[in-house]
Amino acid sequence: MKHNFTAGPAILPKSVIENAAQAIQNFNGSGLSLLEVSHRGDDFDAVIEEARKTALELYGLGDEYEALFMTGGASTQFALVPYNFLNTKAAYLDTGTWANKALKEAKFFGQVDVVASSKDSNYSYIPKGYNVPTDADYFHITTNNTIFGTQIHHMPEVSVPLVADMSSDIYSREIDANKFHLIYAGAQKNLGPSGVTLVLIRKSWLEQVKRAIPTMFAYKTFVDNLSLYNTPPVFPIYVAMENLRWIKEQGGLKAVEKHNQEKAQLLYKAIDELPLFNGVAATEDRSLMNITFTLSNPDLDKAFLAEAEAAGCVGLAGHRSVGGFRASTYNALAKESVQALVDVMTEFSKKHG
Ligand SMILES: *Cc1c(COP(=O)(O)O)cnc(C)c1O
Repeated sequence: MKHNFTAGPAILPKSVIENAAQAIQNFNGSGLSLLEVSHRGDDFDAVIEEARKTALELYGLGDEYEALFMTGGASTQFALVPYNFLNTKAAYLDTGTWANKALKEAKFFGQVDVVASSKDSNYSYIPKGYNVPTDADYFHITTNNTIFGTQIHHMPEVSVPLVADMSSDIYSREIDANKFHLIYAGAQKNLGPSGVTLVLIRKSWLEQVKRAIPTMFAYKTFVDNLSLYNTPPVFPIYVAMENLRWIKEQGGLKAVEKHNQEKAQLLYKAIDELPLFNGVAATEDRSLMNITFTLSNPDLDKAFLAEAEAAGCVGLAGHRSVGGFRASTYNALAKESVQALVDVMTEFSKKHG
């Protein structure tokens, strides 16, 4: 059995993959594959409608919001958010590589105020106690820093529209989503396969768009056409729908969060208790989704990865900008998989400690 700790594209529930395989063979008993039917047919219409409704419902979002299914990944949202909403100046919190890439794109459209950054310590913590200018068009945060293993546990209270890149912790915990004007996530971490990007948008914000924007880059197009202005990524949307349904069946975000907390606690406990291993992120900012750690003696890194792999634990090599290891513990990962990794770490410590 494989324990999949890969950062992304990442683990999905087994039942979701089985249902997707079935839909590719024979979609809804139609005798046709999901891959060869119209995106405007009744069968697919039911799919995108369930995905849309469930995406809003899980976060308790009402009619003031719309759920959009777009393409181009989170990286395209880095540009679309300022293209649509940066009229004069926007504020950004610099918490890592992705946050940095987001603010770089914003600079094409206007003034960017970086209100705080943790770059000085290789992004090992979440800056706090910063001020957001009250005349900013919006404030952009990255709720979970996939590469460095930090996560925002207390959402900022601001008077300007709040925007979040939630690519690696979307639907992983209960949040007050109504605090946000826009949330986006590339699906391939915690929502579905690569190829679709979810955007949750407060519709009234569209009134603040001042630029003339080409059709496919305007959120309004996707809102007005319920993501069906052009051909949407049919298969990734189907898988996301199955996964959203799965989350609901687990008991929603409350149950999913409890499971994620248990998994993270199990692994952080091992990191803290085994003298050979060290955590990377500041304790109070530790991520529940991407758990970064190192060995006191990096000469042992290769040996550890080999032993983990022999026990079926894959995808653990850390990002090159951090080194060490990263265990991604997304929704679909079972607690047994985390236990398998902890067992490897414990054994390894006995041998080398
Ligand atoms: C992976 C990731 C991205 C990039 O997503 P793409 O869909 O590949 O563009 C952006 N932000 C965060 C937080 C990520 O984890």
